[in-house]
Amino acid sequence: MSKRVIMAAGNWKMNKTPKEAVEFVSQLKDIAAGAESEVVVGVPFVCIPGVVEAAKGSNIKVAAQNVHWEASGAYTGEVSCGMLKELGVNYVIIGHSERREYFGETNEMINKKAKAILESGMIPIICCGETLTQREQGVTSEHVRYQIKIALLGLSAEEVSRIVIAYEPIWAIGTGKTATNEQAEEVCAIIRQLIAELYGSDVSEKTRILYGGSVNASNAKELFAMPNIDGGLVGGASLKLDAFGKIIRHYE
Ligand code: PEP
Repeated sequence: MSKRVIMAAGNWKMNKTPKEAVEFVSQLKDIAAGAESEVVVGVPFVCIPGVVEAAKGSNIKVAAQNVHWEASGAYTGEVSCGMLKELGVNYVIIGHSERREYFGETNEMINKKAKAILESGMIPIICCGETLTQREQGVTSEHVRYQIKIALLGLSAEEVSRIVIAYEPIWAIGTGKTATNEQAEEVCAIIRQLIAELYGSDVSEKTRILYGGSVNASNAKELFAMPNIDGGLVGGASLKLDAFGKIIRHYE
């Protein structure tokens, strides 16, 4: 079985103006050049055109942080897959805990978004993860399995082999409190096992599963070396060139 390519995906959230984004990516190009990791920047919608242009000729791929599942229509404030695809977007982050919490994103919506993203030729990065209460109650496995099972409803084996899943324990996001390597590995292994149950091990060996939650320049190497962790979805540290560069080049 060939090794899965490690992904270093930044989630900028609501940070950086279009101008700041272009400056950042122009500098990131040199740092990312020739890296073994796949490099992705998840940028605000308004930054996408400039960042796609700035990333031309580099190995940096661009992600959006949300999308609507319908192709067009009366959905004020929303953006469709066709619009993102036309701009040159490769990945779309969906189901982030902040979107679930503040914008009411449900597992069913995430499933519709995943289907639309795949149909349009982009790849979803599907986020999941438990709260601290759920972890303390001992229901992490049930919760994450439930989230992912619904997110994948109706997807084909071929599609699931191409998607990316990000396990992000909510208690570790933006808190500086990283899951231990073992805690992160345990849940990523549970997700891979679920995919094997649903689609077989040929598929589950191909699906990339990232860890997210206070990944930084010091902990990336050990986390990404765990057998079922195929890289990271990185918030705060992806906003800093030095830190994100070290995460991209964690293997050096
Ligand atoms: C995230 O928002 O996906 C995230 C993991 O944030 P941070 O790295 O800042 O914890």
